[in-house]
Amino acid sequence: MRPTYSIIAPIYNEEGNIQLLYERIAAVMEQTNEPWELVMVNDGSRDRSLELMLSLAHSDPRVKIINFARNFGHQIAVTAGIDFASGQAVVLIDADLQDPPEVILELIERWQAGYEVVYAVRAERKGESWFKVFTAKLFYRLIYRITDVNIPLDTGDFRLMDEKVVRVLRQMREHNRFIRGMTSWIGFKQTGVQYIREARHSGQTKYPFRKMLRFAWDAITGFSYFPLQVMIYVSGLLGFLAILAIPVITVLRLARGPEFFGGQATTIVLLLLMSSFQLFFLFILGQYVARIYDETRGRPLYVVASTVGVKQPEEQKEPLNE
Ligand code: UDP
Ligand code: MG
Repeated sequence: MRPTYSIIAPIYNEEGNIQLLYERIAAVMEQTNEPWELVMVNDGSRDRSLELMLSLAHSDPRVKIINFARNFGHQIAVTAGIDFASGQAVVLIDADLQDPPEVILELIERWQAGYEVVYAVRAERKGESWFKVFTAKLFYRLIYRITDVNIPLDTGDFRLMDEKVVRVLRQMREHNRFIRGMTSWIGFKQTGVQYIREARHSGQTKYPFRKMLRFAWDAITGFSYFPLQVMIYVSGLLGFLAILAIPVITVLRLARGPEFFGGQATTIVLLLLMSSFQLFFLFILGQYVARIYDETRGRPLYVVASTVGVKQPEEQKEPLNE
């Protein structure tokens, strides 16, 4: 039977969390009285994670496993889970129990009320270093400011998505993925539910600073052309300085004699002008690169929520894997 709910948990060296994760999710999902599945994606774990997952799947057929050949990263693991999930609503959750499974019931409530995306907003974070909390806050605010889609503040991947959203997500095959941005981009009716983010149940974070930086960069480059556009400001500033320098030097030379400032002045003005020109054309070049990027990413042009009197285009209806 087709499950109503698919819970997706990416797993990278989570041996200390898998059993409890399963128990807590099972306890919560039983309360819904609907069929469900737990899709665990093993992202190249080197500990006993896979072994534990296999034994769970053996005793409970609702547990499904996708086993990666190596570590492909969190966002890719979640993507595989989304590709293989078969539920009418898909829930993404971290395996370390920082996202309490009990919140899923609240997500479901909003889904039943008609929302297609229900994301969980971190009202408070427990057991994380001030550095992590600070950089995370900074990151979400920066993303919010410079990206084109409105990515809600302080939300991770912990969320519920209706199958309509999931179908579109499956069509978005970009390699550098920032899933929470991609769901915002898709649209539909979205809402948030507040929750308290717990401390990790067992083990260490799998997001060292290096991976976090990469993740932030994926988010920025995936959803904003700001890094390509800053050049125009620098170009404008240099051009302005060059133009300002000309009358200033002229006046100084008239007042103090032709030797004042020597040949340097001409060189400085020329240098400023040339740099300004070069940055300006780099900016133009960047605009073309941005367009090439848009085309190669091959996102759908639009997402249809509903139609009257016409059929929806085929590709909007069929998921990639069917
Ligand atoms: N994860 C993964 N692959 C990775 C890194 C992390 O599948 O390369 C999983 C990890 O097992 C966990 C989730 O992604 O279920 C979130 O990772 P983590 O808790 O380490 O991140 P943090 O909460 O510290 O940001
Ligand atoms: Mg975590």
